[in-house]
Amino acid sequence: MPGINIFIAFKLPLKQLFLLSALLVAALLFAWHYFVPPRIVPAQAVLPLAGLVIAVDPGHGGYDPGCTSNGLLEKDVVLEIALYLRDYLQQGGARVIMTREEDKDFLLPAAGPKKRLDFSNRLKIVEDGGADLIVSIHANYISSPRWRGSQAFFQDGCNEGKNIAESIQAELTRVLQNTDRLARSGNYYMLRESSMPGAVVEVGFFSNPQEAALLGRADYQKKMAWAIYLGIINSLSTS
Ligand SMILES: [Zn+2]
Repeated sequence: MPGINIFIAFKLPLKQLFLLSALLVAALLFAWHYFVPPRIVPAQAVLPLAGLVIAVDPGHGGYDPGCTSNGLLEKDVVLEIALYLRDYLQQGGARVIMTREEDKDFLLPAAGPKKRLDFSNRLKIVEDGGADLIVSIHANYISSPRWRGSQAFFQDGCNEGKNIAESIQAELTRVLQNTDRLARSGNYYMLRESSMPGAVVEVGFFSNPQEAALLGRADYQKKMAWAIYLGIINSLSTS
């Protein structure tokens, strides 16, 4: 009869009833773990730069080669590094705004002084894209071949920018193992005029033959981009 089992169950001694309940709970837990697939955590949740918009600005381009020495053009070298940096940042979860991804300048619409127009149109891309942070990439040249080393700069008076530049400098020093330079303040249009904090990275001196040779190599450019990438990540945890 259908009612008998329930009747018997109620008549079980308390100890056995407890054991039965425990077994039932164990069976349910087992079934839960066995049949319910683990919850899939969206990959974005674990990426270090998720939700951030980062502007990468390779200096110069088009009519303006930047500094030229030892067979290198600044506009080409900084573009290569910026493209590697873009890839790392995207893999880290950031949305990346590139001011340029090819050899071009920003003289359209053509009016006004060349350099200033290039800068203001470049800045417009960054501002319109809603960047949280900007990194401009440049290279150095000086009349003496003696000087070398990459260096990060920030806008004077911008504490967030200082933090970003110092974090990047720390990684340039650690990853590249060839500079003891420190982050310094500098007067750069893209940092001075932009609404977001950031840093300018001078990747090294074209005027130094050994450093120029390194800067022309893809593996060194990649290493440079990796150091900048790590510096940006670290700056977020120390800000
Ligand atoms: Zn430059």
